[in-house]
Amino acid sequence: MEDSYRQQGKRKILVEQIREKGIKDEKVLAAINAIPRHLFMDSSFEDHAYQDKAFPIAAGQTISQPYTVAFQTELLQVKSGEKILEVGTGSGYQAAALCELGAKVYTIERQLELYKKTKNFLQKIGYRPKYMSFGDGYKGLPEFAPFDKIIVTAGAPYIPKALLSQLKVGGRMVIPVGEDPQIMTLLKRQSVKKFEKETFGEFRFVPLLEDKA
Ligand code: SAH
Repeated sequence: MEDSYRQQGKRKILVEQIREKGIKDEKVLAAINAIPRHLFMDSSFEDHAYQDKAFPIAAGQTISQPYTVAFQTELLQVKSGEKILEVGTGSGYQAAALCELGAKVYTIERQLELYKKTKNFLQKIGYRPKYMSFGDGYKGLPEFAPFDKIIVTAGAPYIPKALLSQLKVGGRMVIPVGEDPQIMTLLKRQSVKKFEKETFGEFRFVPLLEDKA
């Protein structure tokens, strides 16, 4: 699992591109700089790893665009030690970014193949989410709730009620809402019943799939 000077150099350039696109949080930029994104992709696509683009991974899914990961992470305002739920583990890249920021990460993936592969892989490169779950993100993880922050990394046709109920009062949830494209949406829980909503423009994600019973 090599991380060469050449790859590190490309990553620095990527970080500067993301900064130019408007990401200001130095801790988020440092996390992007620290994660060997090329290892999250098939080795034959390594050359694409440090372009600021989403890319196909296993099981018809994608690794999110680095700018999008930085954007969502910045909106979350992660503090070390916080308990964070991620819906849509995918390649594990976003989960790695949350680990870099010192969060206790709980993450859910609905595709078995990807869940297994990413669990092994994160272990191997030294990222340690608190809990990786194979299951349906629409349901969240009630047994571990409440969470300080929740991040959804697939396009949600609507905001799942279970996720809202698993967010702490004072917590933040970042979720792309809509069919195609999605509108990046920030929800701040102000009281048990009250959520403040802010939106941040269009993004494109693979869909958050609902399992039909
Ligand atoms: N966070 C990922 C992005 C992966 S793309 C990364 O950094 O690479 C979105 C992921 O959400 C896909 O892996 C997809 O399988 C998963 N997904 C879609 N619907 C889901 C659901 N209902 N529950 C959990 N995961 C889901």
